Amino acid sequence: MPNGKPAGVRCIHLTETNDCKLFGHPDRPQFCIDLHPEIDMCGDNRTYALNYLSSLEELTKD
Ligand code: SF4
Repeated sequence: MPNGKPAGVRCIHLTETNDCKLFGHPDRPQFCIDLHPEIDMCGDNRTYALNYLSSLEELTKD
């Protein structure tokens, strides 16, 4: 995604099972490398994590 990933748009590097195709690859964006999951972000279930990420995307969209 040469112009960055717009908020609310699925990353083209996600696999069908929501893994990162670039994990461990030198082309993985620095932002993704620097993002370290925390319990506040992930909670203890997928729904919590997706809601949290959605709120971040809403707050940072243009
Ligand atoms: S970690 Fe980054 S490159 Fe990988 S799928 Fe997520 S947004 Fe895309």
